[in-house]
Amino acid sequence: MHRLLSLRRDLRDGLGWIVTGEWSEPQLTVLWEAGQALERLIADLQGRPPGGWVPQYLPARFRRAGIAGRVGPLKGKSFVFPRHVVSMCEGFESSAHPHGHIFHEMGHVLDNHLGGWLPATFVGGGPADRMVRAVGGMPARAGLRFLPRRDYPWRVTPREHWPPGSYANLNVAEDFAETFALTLLAPEKVPPARLAWMRAFLRALPAGSGERLRV
Ligand SMILES: [Zn+2]
Repeated sequence: MHRLLSLRRDLRDGLGWIVTGEWSEPQLTVLWEAGQALERLIADLQGRPPGGWVPQYLPARFRRAGIAGRVGPLKGKSFVFPRHVVSMCEGFESSAHPHGHIFHEMGHVLDNHLGGWLPATFVGGGPADRMVRAVGGMPARAGLRFLPRRDYPWRVTPREHWPPGSYANLNVAEDFAETFALTLLAPEKVPPARLAWMRAFLRALPAGSGERLRV
């Protein structure tokens, strides 16, 4: 019990991440490790010591997906709604790539955080739109940015897209979240124009002014 409380405190004080509801120790540990890895990878990219970036740009609140995660179209999926609240699906901590999973959701949070008043993952206006335009695409042709479209690659980003079958080929929001996660974790998988754009974008986002990450 004490360990759970101290993990919650570390997440809050070190990353600015608030967790609500019931969580197991392995789940909170994976969140903490992923958040630290994310802070470190961004710092490496920016050529500075880690600390403060995640709390500034990814002020997430985590909750369990609950009933929405067990039925309907969101079954077995994590999602971000409306802007900074991340609902984590059952078993995320034992999935094949838990850090990739968490980084992906943080990509949605970043899009919303830097977007306008309405969630960018719904209506656009955030960095996901900028990325799609930068690689020769037309984000407005996607309509709502989270709706899956079979014709997304050739309708919205005809000049460059992901390999067939990639989750990033679904819509603007997933395209950006996957580009964000894989630029940090598996850059060899990212199409070259997206990789160059994401690296330049992240390098140009100033390091946080918050407290240094406690490790
Ligand atoms: Zn997603």
